[in-house]
Amino acid sequence: MSSSTPTQYDAVIFGGGASGLMCAQVAGHRGLKVLVLDSSNKVGKKILMSGGGRCNFTNYFIEPGCFLSNNPHFCKSALSRYTQWDFIALVEKHGIAYHERKHGELFCNDSAKDILKMLLDECADAGVQIKTKCTVEFIETHEQGYTLRSNQGVFSCRNLVIATGGLSIPTLGSSGFGYEIAEQFDLPVLPRTAGLVPFIFTDQIKQLTETLSGLAVDVALSVKGTTFRENILFTHRGISGPAALQISNYWKQGDSISINLIPDDNAEAFFLNLKKQHPKSLLRNVLPEKFSKQFCLELQKLWWPEAPEKPLAAFPDQRLKEIASRFENWTLKPAGTEGYRTAEVTLGGIDTNCISSKTMECKTQPGLYFIGEVLDVTGWLGGFNFQWAWASGVAAGESF
Ligand SMILES: Cc1cc2nc3c(=O)[nH]c(=O)nc-3n(C[C@H](O)[C@H](O)[C@H](O)COP(=O)(O)OP(=O)(O)OC[C@H]3O[C@@H](n4cnc5c(N)ncnc54)[C@H](O)[C@@H]3O)c2cc1C
Repeated sequence: MSSSTPTQYDAVIFGGGASGLMCAQVAGHRGLKVLVLDSSNKVGKKILMSGGGRCNFTNYFIEPGCFLSNNPHFCKSALSRYTQWDFIALVEKHGIAYHERKHGELFCNDSAKDILKMLLDECADAGVQIKTKCTVEFIETHEQGYTLRSNQGVFSCRNLVIATGGLSIPTLGSSGFGYEIAEQFDLPVLPRTAGLVPFIFTDQIKQLTETLSGLAVDVALSVKGTTFRENILFTHRGISGPAALQISNYWKQGDSISINLIPDDNAEAFFLNLKKQHPKSLLRNVLPEKFSKQFCLELQKLWWPEAPEKPLAAFPDQRLKEIASRFENWTLKPAGTEGYRTAEVTLGGIDTNCISSKTMECKTQPGLYFIGEVLDVTGWLGGFNFQWAWASGVAAGESF
């Protein structure tokens, strides 16, 4: 340990992302001396990349049921004390124009930069200090709190907040540092996997997705009883799009996924009706427009290869019922996902059973806090993960 006297803070926050900056400004406004340390050259990189550059910063319909965790009750307290309406009020206070897209998702009209600037302005107003390119090499505990040795000096603090996020997109500064700290303090870390991530295929379906790459289709996509009604997007390697990303949070290696291509109708009735309405037409020519010509040809190869040029009248009803059941329950087995390279979030993380749901403080280690994605709390696509970052950041920032 360096012999020079370390600078003393009320709180040091590792990670200047969504949750860390939120926590810092809240604690700073309470008059506390706060330092944010980030190993990256810039804070808030994921905010800048989010929502296609417009940051889907929250959702009108935040519910605990939209979050996955080994302990589904954990997120309730923080989410109910700092709600989407509180964050919207902050956005409006800063005059940031925003709009609602589908399913209550709120985006900046202009740029995600507005959200980062808002957080940085709040931090500056609260006197928060921020150091980038700062790596912490050593954490020591003592009666008054923690002493940290970093490449930019030695710091002491009463409270240490870990806001280092998950493992997704390493090029945006992600690291496993938060989990290492948990291990240093003997806290359980649940297994982690990539979430909100596209599926890949290696069987004959890969050829099909490659051929259809770029096509989006409205479907109901299910895995083990959970269903999302949204678009899927065929890619060169598999399936992406909002429905696929959502369902990836519920998928485990080896699971099959089920695609309902006729989500608004009874598929049998739909196909029998097509026969009645268009007896002289080819099936591929009377399918709804959303399927595209190419997709219809591919489906024909898969499901009625024996009758590509036969009119619908030549299909026995029983055969049409079989085809209907394929459309209703197209079962595919992904080889895996694209992994952390493209995932939006990390599933799993620090076991919330060792954290206070009110304050985010570690139950066995006074003064040590974990917030944001590093915890085993993962939201749906649609602004839920940021709302968790804001709410957990505020819970900690108000408590020490
Ligand atoms: C491409 C992309 C788009 C997304 N879009 C959305 C969206 O529109 N809406 C939504 O709700 N969610 C979105 N998310 C998810 C959302 O960005 C995260 O859930 C959220 O940023 C998590 O906040 P956090 O504070 O826990 O971590 P982060 O925001 O990831 O911040 C972690 C910070 O810790 C720093 N850090 C890492 N290691 C160290 C270390 N060793 N020492 C010091 N600092 C360290 C990092 O540099 C980073 O600044 C998106 C994610 C990605 C990858």
